[in-house]
Amino acid sequence: MNASHHASGTSGLPPIDHAETILDLVGRTPLVRLSRVLRDVGPADRLPLVLAKLEMLNPGGSVKDRIGLPMIEAAERAGLLRPGGTIVEPTSGNTGHGLAIAAALRGYRCVFVMADKQSAEKQALLRAYGAEVVLCPSNVEPGSPESYYSVARRLARDIPGAWQPDQYSNPANPEAHERTTGPEIWEQTRGRVTHLVASAGTVGTLTGTARYLRSRSPDLVVVGADPEGSVLSGDTARPYLTEGVGEDFYPAAYAPELVDRWVRVSDRDAFLAARRLTREEGILAGESCGTALVATIRLVRELAVAPDGATKVVVVILPDTGRNYLSKLYSDEWMRSNGLLATTGERLRVADLLRDRHHQGARPDVVLVRTTERVGDAIGRFQEHGISQMPVSEAPEGDDAGAIVGSVEETGLLERAYRDPAIVERTIGEVMGRPLPTIEEERSVDDAYALLAGGAAAILVMREGRLGGIVTRLDILEHLAHPDRG
Ligand code: PMP
Repeated sequence: MNASHHASGTSGLPPIDHAETILDLVGRTPLVRLSRVLRDVGPADRLPLVLAKLEMLNPGGSVKDRIGLPMIEAAERAGLLRPGGTIVEPTSGNTGHGLAIAAALRGYRCVFVMADKQSAEKQALLRAYGAEVVLCPSNVEPGSPESYYSVARRLARDIPGAWQPDQYSNPANPEAHERTTGPEIWEQTRGRVTHLVASAGTVGTLTGTARYLRSRSPDLVVVGADPEGSVLSGDTARPYLTEGVGEDFYPAAYAPELVDRWVRVSDRDAFLAARRLTREEGILAGESCGTALVATIRLVRELAVAPDGATKVVVVILPDTGRNYLSKLYSDEWMRSNGLLATTGERLRVADLLRDRHHQGARPDVVLVRTTERVGDAIGRFQEHGISQMPVSEAPEGDDAGAIVGSVEETGLLERAYRDPAIVERTIGEVMGRPLPTIEEERSVDDAYALLAGGAAAILVMREGRLGGIVTRLDILEHLAHPDRG
């Protein structure tokens, strides 16, 4: 422990347990067991022990507190940063907090350059420490003069006494994890850790921690978690929403030989997993925690079927707190407008619509008309059942789905009978239209709605190869308008 005991001028009195500064409280984060989020992954007695390292409990709320002071001290030793100097860094926020805490205590000015996709909370927090924040557009090439990397480089050149830590190339970044994060995990697990999972941005956490743990246990399995659209896991670079992880270039600490496998995680899976950590485990988690959790769940699923899976000890690093993302990850409105949260129609299955209607007991599941029946009979049946579409079957009886050859619509038939009254004596087979599209009852209501929005008047619902019902656009709208009626 760095925390010291206050003893000056108080000889004989018991020492007071305290830290000298907040910097002494960085690191030594606890491990907590994850269980609720793994409940459905495999039988409890087959699951490995899964422990989350809670980096959000650092004083600045993230794993990046670990690198702030070490990078500053290395620069002081090298004469790159002198009293009164300015720290300029392109950062997604968390490194800024780590640097800002150290800078506050050492009296340096800070200018942070960040992409405008970063949450408003992160910007406000940096300003709270007294830092200046410069925003740059998110979706430009790293080489573009507008990118936050380029702007930071320019400011570091032009501001007198400025120094840029450059966490992407600074060896003090991975070294901090090799010196602290790795040994902590080794000691906390009494050397029993078998698997390490970490999401990666600068890759400092993953590389530094893995390097130490591998030096103690060559068989350690290292899993990197990376957003879709990041080059670290070999994807082609494209924009994504998850903050703090993934890159469109290879940082200096990128050490593929230390990573056994990469797991690529979509924004949606990462965000929903982060919410699960908060709501099921009570760990207020940031987005990249979700990225790491998705990779962990995939790993645990494999271990749960291995004969010795239950003997394994998995440590997953959770980088930062959900408090940084209240206006994004934890805003239902923001999540929905970014397509990350299921709409009501996506959660509901077509079967739910039919079940509802069944409770109302109004009519049989499917009312059919046969090719050999008269148009007049069909018109009568529409009115008897209060319906507006019917599938047409060529089978003489029963409701064999394979015999559906067409459909008829009430208004269409009535219009034709109005223009030509003789038509009521014709057979349905002569006047019918095309068969209605079909959908399996397990599909989502959104899928059904998409078919109807594409022009179908109604859809036939299939249940285990048989006709289970028929739904119209009105059925869906009514259901959504009165969700509690079923
Ligand atoms: N998660 C968040 C929220 C981060 O800000 C960062 C740092 N960019 C990371 C994860 C990844 O850490 P590292 O840079 O050490 O790979």
